[in-house]
Amino acid sequence: MIQFVDLKTQYNRYQAEMEEAVLSVLRSGQYILGPIVEQLEAALATFAGTAYAVSCASGTDALVMALMAKGVGRGDIVFTTPFTFMASAEAIALVGATPAFVDVDPVTYNLDPNALRRAIRAVKSGNVNDHVLPFLDEGRAYTARGIIAVDLFGLPADYDAINAIAVDEGLFVIQDAAQSFGAELHGRRTGSHAEIGCTSFFPAKPLGCYGDGGALFTDDGELDTLFRSIRVHGQGSDRYENVRLGITGRLDAIQAAVLLVKLRAFPDELIARQRIANAYSSRIAEAGLPLVTPRIPAGSASAWAQYSVLAEDDAARAAMRARLDAVGIPTAIYYPKPLHLQGAFADLRYETGDFPVAENLAGRIFSLPMHPYLNDDQIAAVVGKLCESKR
Ligand SMILES: *Cc1c(COP(=O)(O)O)cnc(C)c1O
Repeated sequence: MIQFVDLKTQYNRYQAEMEEAVLSVLRSGQYILGPIVEQLEAALATFAGTAYAVSCASGTDALVMALMAKGVGRGDIVFTTPFTFMASAEAIALVGATPAFVDVDPVTYNLDPNALRRAIRAVKSGNVNDHVLPFLDEGRAYTARGIIAVDLFGLPADYDAINAIAVDEGLFVIQDAAQSFGAELHGRRTGSHAEIGCTSFFPAKPLGCYGDGGALFTDDGELDTLFRSIRVHGQGSDRYENVRLGITGRLDAIQAAVLLVKLRAFPDELIARQRIANAYSSRIAEAGLPLVTPRIPAGSASAWAQYSVLAEDDAARAAMRARLDAVGIPTAIYYPKPLHLQGAFADLRYETGDFPVAENLAGRIFSLPMHPYLNDDQIAAVVGKLCESKR
């Protein structure tokens, strides 16, 4: 049996340690925040190489808390990619701001810095010939405030270019590292590549807990204080003083205990994911399959949340997926519909054709099984089946 993501094998491997850690939380009487959560935050900051790490209830909450800390709200525009999970843009809309989509790079599938610069110019100049913009209400003033860059499938976005643009234009940058925790850019781990890093510990992410969880990363002590306040309803210096609006954004102690066990194994798992990605790429190349395999820029290392390939077209993709499905090998499409075409964002009035790279990827991409416990025989079996669908 080949699993798309194999959480059970991982559990079996760390079962004794894991059950001991969770039981000790059950026996402690402290279930939300507390010493285990503080221990996790210290370990996360060390791992990411940031001064501060603040745990929270999910990756989506991390993004919302980051935007709240930056004071983002109505009339603000935040730029992001349309080729990502819903939450990246949803967080912008949830705080009342307007997402402005920017197409992705056809090689990395991450935010295209040149298009980003044009989009920012278009907002500032009001000239839609510079870049397609969301529907903007004529009666209201809008301000370009920030950028949420997403590290799709585990590969860090081009933060050298994105941070430089942000400095030029006076915008903030949030790194959506929900898929890339543990990935590297110039030897530094994700979470540390922008003013604020956000990640998710959803079970299927590279580092997952046994429920929902997330974290924020920063080197800025004022932001750290803001995150901790927003996480508990805008709490001030004492529990019954609320100095701002916040959310119920806390992490459970049980999830922190699970993450502390998994974090110890995580560096080895990242190595395993890299080895598996290399094996897929070399076997696909040797077989001469008509697939584009992931291309990782020099200076970057992916966390391999997904191993995604591009088929020649939708029909070729369907044929390959059907072949694999027939023998019980799971695949998935991330993402079949870019966010600018989702009903939830209909009020932004984007149209098909607005982001051709994202739309083209959506019609061709699919992901193969990826987790640290895949062996060589299983990888050979997946690629072997892909070969059978070659005509
Ligand atoms: C999973 C994910 C999120 C949201 O994380 P949750 O913990 O599920 O809320 C945000 N952004 C991206 C890119 C993701 O893949």
